Amino acid sequence: MTITASRAVDAPQAEPPARVLLADRLFSGASADQLEHAAVAIASGQVVWAGPRSELPAAYADWPRQDHGDATILPGLVETHAHLGSYSRAAQPDVPDPARHAVAWEVLSSVKIARQLASVGVTTAQSLGARDYVDVALREAVKAGLVDGPRIVAAGPPITLTGGHSWYAGAEADSKTELRRQVRLHHKAGTNAVKVMATGGFMSHSTAPWNAQFTVSQFRALIDDAHRLGLHVAAHAHGSEGIRRVAQAGVDYIAHASFVGPDGRTAFDPELADQLASAGVYVDHSAVPTYPPVAGEGFAARAYQLYQHGVRLVVGHDIGAVLPASAYTWGLRQLEQAGLPRAEVLIAATSRGAAAVGLAGVTGVVAPGYAADLIVAAGDPLADLTALDHLLEIVLAGRRFEPDPVARFDPQERLAAPVRAPLAPDDARAAHLERQRRRAAHPLPRG
Ligand SMILES: [Zn+2]
Repeated sequence: MTITASRAVDAPQAEPPARVLLADRLFSGASADQLEHAAVAIASGQVVWAGPRSELPAAYADWPRQDHGDATILPGLVETHAHLGSYSRAAQPDVPDPARHAVAWEVLSSVKIARQLASVGVTTAQSLGARDYVDVALREAVKAGLVDGPRIVAAGPPITLTGGHSWYAGAEADSKTELRRQVRLHHKAGTNAVKVMATGGFMSHSTAPWNAQFTVSQFRALIDDAHRLGLHVAAHAHGSEGIRRVAQAGVDYIAHASFVGPDGRTAFDPELADQLASAGVYVDHSAVPTYPPVAGEGFAARAYQLYQHGVRLVVGHDIGAVLPASAYTWGLRQLEQAGLPRAEVLIAATSRGAAAVGLAGVTGVVAPGYAADLIVAAGDPLADLTALDHLLEIVLAGRRFEPDPVARFDPQERLAAPVRAPLAPDDARAAHLERQRRRAAHPLPRG
């Protein structure tokens, strides 16, 4: 017998209440336009009607209503690159044998991150890397009403080379057969997506961000198998060579796209950007200002260049691994400062983000038939993005969510203390030679 989560919970959840939300403005996410004097009727977790208040059908006239006045109803925000279940190794249970509690610790910290995301208005989060498939369990726990949190799209542990970037998440593979096996293990565990580490990263000691981790034909084996099983594929790629290879192999989504060259410096490649645009690959590029820069460079300019080339930008900040949930709206303002129009930023953060995580037609738009995943911002975010820092309501699948207090994000503090100083290419080689030298000078004692 299979015990489902809902059967294990004593009291089934009550239906979310039917009601009408009113506000001076509605940004539906379906276009860059806004509707004035809007009404949105929600019932059973769905939007059942949205339009001008004066045209609200009589059927909804006696439903409970909340008039927010000078405010804007928007689709809830979408974080396309979170980590729900990859706790920092610096924080662990204060007991003699912390490893024994690793999974429980990952679960509990992922619940906290999920609640914090919801508290800043994120109603959908794609988890791009979690140990022990914690994100899959969390997704089901949210659906079953065990915990409150955003709608979750889960990728499980990222697939990587043995000893490659994030190897400690537990999904190593070195051949096409092993890559296919990992995809099937993910499918068996119930993920919605697969994340592959296409290049090294800044935070693993054993890798370099400019090196590609697999060949085109290996990527193709993984992607074809994932697609056959209905899973979309997101690739972590800092280096240009890795970006080129996954694009050629038919990837759906690229995290970072930092264009790091073989010399360890970033160099935008317009042809490669055109290739991403014409293939319709989704790209998250929002965490960039806080990443440890390569050889003194920042990546901020890339977002605007990608936008100019018509690449489908979405909003993913590596929340839970690099940035806290409170950085979300700050990240949106960074995109605006990089040169993206505000409407483009809002579309990236809502309808396009939903499409990027496989939820087109499900959430990300305020229209009949979509989930009632909504936020109400005081003022007008299309005129000033800081309106998103003052939310009057957060609605998760039709239920009003009471936010947790979230400390304000301080970018200065974050920039002053990078996660880990990156190695320059020559340093990486020097470190390798130094290890060889030490090993030769200190041979292991014979037993
Ligand atoms: Zn990440």
